Amino acid sequence: MNISREITFAIQKVVGKKRASLHEPRFNGNELKYVQECIDSTFVSSVGIFVNKFEKELENYTGSNHAIAVVNGTTALHLSLLIAGVKSGDEVLVQALTFVATANAVRYCGAEPHFVDCEENTLGMDPEALRRYLKVATEQRSGVCVNRYTGCSIRAMIPVHIFGHPCDLEGLSAVAKDYNIAMIEDASESLGSIYNGKHTGTFGLLGTLSFNGNKTITTGGGGAILTDNLELAKRAKHLSTTAKIRHQWEYSHDEVGFNYRMPNINAALGCAQLEQLTEFLKSKRQLYERYQDAFRDIPKVQLFNEPERSKSNYWLQTLILDESASESRDAILQASNDAGLMTRPVWKLMHKLPPYSNCQRSSLLVAESLESRIINLPSSVGLVNSV
Ligand SMILES: *Cc1c(COP(=O)(O)O)cnc(C)c1O
Repeated sequence: MNISREITFAIQKVVGKKRASLHEPRFNGNELKYVQECIDSTFVSSVGIFVNKFEKELENYTGSNHAIAVVNGTTALHLSLLIAGVKSGDEVLVQALTFVATANAVRYCGAEPHFVDCEENTLGMDPEALRRYLKVATEQRSGVCVNRYTGCSIRAMIPVHIFGHPCDLEGLSAVAKDYNIAMIEDASESLGSIYNGKHTGTFGLLGTLSFNGNKTITTGGGGAILTDNLELAKRAKHLSTTAKIRHQWEYSHDEVGFNYRMPNINAALGCAQLEQLTEFLKSKRQLYERYQDAFRDIPKVQLFNEPERSKSNYWLQTLILDESASESRDAILQASNDAGLMTRPVWKLMHKLPPYSNCQRSSLLVAESLESRIINLPSSVGLVNSV
């Protein structure tokens, strides 16, 4: 049997039904009740009890001192970069292997993404390669990391916990500290993932979450900023609410702010979804175990498993093809999609996209290789619970 049929059968064996999408949300809790309460109260917009409740619950769940709910994960990244001090003309280190939102947020600040490589065993930013690169490509000028070739300040770095799997946060934190670069974790995909006993998104100066419809929990659209720093938290809240100064009746704004606050009606959904998160994570791990059984004896493919010292949320199940099987990637995608099983390749690397083709970059050999070998599998929570 050829590899594309073998993989398609293995997926079928696990999902146990004719068709399966990549990632569907599941609304099995208090969603309708809370949304109804929200409508009854008339507070459906950017003020209301559910926004504050959702933020409190995110703080409790992640262990972060502060959570600020915003309209989506992209705006969470944009605000985090601004708050970390990224200005027009700066550079920000971004992994080439990520969703485009990470790079876009940098451009929204007038800054330039500077692409770096990933590690095979985490899929995230590679601290050792980064350290070697920074040593050659940068110098410290009055406590600021400056790119020797462009003369621009490298103000921040954004490691991404790809498909929910934690990066080497210890290694990356050390590089950030040694080179005076602010670390912002893009934890959009990794709510519920733990590194060294602590939640992802709580290691950097700031961390960002997404609650888009395809993420582990959803608010329709939504995101959040996590930080332990009170001043930064206040600034995030202020900037996300049009920089309005609190006053009983007056409209006064002390800088150019943003209308980025999460609406109450979305937060109502979020509160209901958070109540089910532990259950969702259990299902995702079970699904991973089933895929592991199904793929164990198929040569030339590995099911990606959580890195060392990590507990992953297993947001998107991932196959990694051996180098020798990479030319079969498209045939595998074709056969599985033809069978009604939604599989997907990873995102095209950032430096291959027209808006980012001229950006600075380090060697991207690992990212290039991974790009040709990754296949995401149907990963919905319902795939475990409904069979
Ligand atoms: C989903 C996602 C985002 C952006 O989130 P939105 O809520 O869709 O704006 C950013 N980065 C990564 C890696 C993501 O997966």
